[in-house]
Amino acid sequence: MIDERLRQIFEDLTNINATSGNEAPVAEYIKAFAERLGLEFEMDGAASLSGGNSGNAIVRIKGGGNHYLASHMDTPRSIEGLKRLYLEDRITSDGTTPLGIDDRGGLSSILYALEKAVADGNIKPCTLVFTVCEETTLAGSTFYTPDPGIRYGFIFDSYMSPPALVSETCGLLEFDFTFHGRSSHAGIAPEKGISAIQVACEAITKFPYGKLGEKDTGNIGKICGGTATNVVCDEVKVSGEIRSGNLEEGERRFRKVVEDFEEVCRKHGATLEYRSAWDFTPYHIHPEDEPYRHFEKVVKAMGLEPLPMKSMGGSDANAMNKKGIKTINLGVGAQNPHGNDEFILYEDFTRAAQIAYGLMTTTLE
Ligand SMILES: [Zn+2]
Repeated sequence: MIDERLRQIFEDLTNINATSGNEAPVAEYIKAFAERLGLEFEMDGAASLSGGNSGNAIVRIKGGGNHYLASHMDTPRSIEGLKRLYLEDRITSDGTTPLGIDDRGGLSSILYALEKAVADGNIKPCTLVFTVCEETTLAGSTFYTPDPGIRYGFIFDSYMSPPALVSETCGLLEFDFTFHGRSSHAGIAPEKGISAIQVACEAITKFPYGKLGEKDTGNIGKICGGTATNVVCDEVKVSGEIRSGNLEEGERRFRKVVEDFEEVCRKHGATLEYRSAWDFTPYHIHPEDEPYRHFEKVVKAMGLEPLPMKSMGGSDANAMNKKGIKTINLGVGAQNPHGNDEFILYEDFTRAAQIAYGLMTTTLE
């Protein structure tokens, strides 16, 4: 089982339903929690970017210190009507809703540790950040402006079991292509048309799908176009992504796709429009970097060793690293995230809370 107080905080937080953009009730809970402990609470203006009903919830302890701990307040799916089941070694839902463990597990771990560290009187200066819209756009972490003293931080948001940490991730480049052909009657004058469907199909055969290397992947996930069976189609839109462990490599792969698609368009007299943007960029945190060393100090005191891992997914850590704030994403053990079979082992939950406590009550030097 887990500590009774940790269980109670987790129950409080999973009794609140707050999907992305609807985080206000979670922020209110955190505000009341912090104020009860006599701590300064602030909400930033992230709602202006996310379009949701809440900004990021920020708690500065003793001036805010040089590092932060964070988790996100949104869940990707509703947990309305959640029934928690406490099994022998884990917490699950009854299978009809997600458990909300992503990321109420991380959130509960931090709040539990905060309360305990304040009660024990050994809390050190640090900042707690609870973000909005992690699951959709990373709007919260993208908007968040760290105080000038903040140098590094920790996100509690990985499905991996503690003491795993995501020290390295890919970046994600999203793209849209629009193939422009020419419409014409498919029966009377097909020769006057240029089928955007035919052109797009030929172009797509040149796309590099699937695994492209150790940390690179490619996918076209969406295609749409056409109006009627008797019309030569004049427009097709194609959307997809390239993930890469390296910015230049990802850009190079995308340029090759553009060149290949343009060549096919030229051959058929069609034209091509496109846009691309990095949804999140790669990061790599090394053992000599501050967050790694601080984390190592904490888990070693627990008799454990850090387990650095690579990830092909993004999190708030990507947005924070992009700002130059060295950040690692820590394993909470929130398993099968987003499914109705989400669960967390008591052992992992307990460790995640202990790690949060350690990061709040020790300093690096
Ligand atoms: Zn998450």
